[in-house]
Amino acid sequence: MRRPELLLPAGNLEKLRTAVLYGADAVYAGVAGLSLRAASAEMSPDDLAAGIACAHTSGVRVYAALNTFARDRDLENARRVLPCVVAAGVDAFIVSDPGLIRLIRNLAPQIPLHLSTQANTTNAEAVRFWRDQGVERIILARELNLAEVEAIARAVPDVELEIFIHGAMCMAYSGRCYLSAWRNGRSANAGDCTQPCRWEYILHESTRPDEPLLLTEDERYSYLLSSKDLCLLPHLPRVLETGVAAVKVEGRMKSSYYTAAVARIYRQALDALVAEGADYVCRPEWMEELQKVSHRGYTTGFAFAQEKINETSPRIKSLQTHEPAGVVLEYHSDSRQLRIDVRNLLRAGDDVELLLPRDVVPVDTRPMTGEQGEVLERAHAGNRIFLAFDRPVPRGALLRKKILSP
Ligand code: SF4
Repeated sequence: MRRPELLLPAGNLEKLRTAVLYGADAVYAGVAGLSLRAASAEMSPDDLAAGIACAHTSGVRVYAALNTFARDRDLENARRVLPCVVAAGVDAFIVSDPGLIRLIRNLAPQIPLHLSTQANTTNAEAVRFWRDQGVERIILARELNLAEVEAIARAVPDVELEIFIHGAMCMAYSGRCYLSAWRNGRSANAGDCTQPCRWEYILHESTRPDEPLLLTEDERYSYLLSSKDLCLLPHLPRVLETGVAAVKVEGRMKSSYYTAAVARIYRQALDALVAEGADYVCRPEWMEELQKVSHRGYTTGFAFAQEKINETSPRIKSLQTHEPAGVVLEYHSDSRQLRIDVRNLLRAGDDVELLLPRDVVPVDTRPMTGEQGEVLERAHAGNRIFLAFDRPVPRGALLRKKILSP
């Protein structure tokens, strides 16, 4: 069975290193000023270069996302930044704008081009068109079902196809939406969506503004516009059957903890599927793990849909049972302690686990000590603390804290 490339988001250098540590085959990263993501999810050319060096050491590929629809003024920036990105050793560019495609083709014809899902490729003729323009991989539109994906893969076997298998879904057609720009002046088409489709809405009749007309999804609000998150973990055998070359996780703006938690599960599942073939079963504990990260309920999205439909979530609040607690900075083998960069309020006695690529291990939070050896009852985000642990773990490993029962 062909094992597709597992592609993880890398919103910054730390997330890139996390994705590499937890099993990505490849990562995708925005480049400052050129991606379809907000600045918070972009990397400077220097960070990207450091990330590429780190990833290549582990045999992981790095794709630079330049999937904005560029105005003429953006092309100047592209001409300035592209040579640095090429020099850093990027493995491919993810693009959607034909102008940028032409620019990259002229500047760096040796670097493969991947066509972004923003280009909305939905049929085999469109795939052939982009192939003829020199594009090597197409990230198909999220709105296709798996039968359509498979048909395209069979019709155009010489082009690599990639699909999303996990992450947030948009209620608009592949992000072509002005809701955020209209409500907040922050445009989804410039990568700065504030996700107002996830907000709670109440219907008012104009003559009775104080008497909201409650809709029925729950006792307080309607979340008619809020999509559940995509999760195809239980359907990986069908996903691989389609013949796609790569499967992708959405979420460059999500935390390192999210990256780690999702990467390790899909890594384990894909490895098991390839090794076990027809005997493969999706382990219940994998889905349990995915319930522990922030999500809005899971859906298969369009994967099995005959019509273009989407599922909304009746819950506006994110569902999660754990939150990030900290990141391992180093292991002190002499004192058998982990030195940790705290990411959320941590109290001595909190229920904390260390997330390893193949394992989840409880960590005792008593005693918790500070940099000077003082015993702490609590630590805050940004503090550096020490916790006892009996064996070395890699730098960058994530700790999480239980916040409620599943
Ligand atoms: S507001 Fe919602 S539907 Fe619109 S682009 Fe943002 S996530 Fe998508």
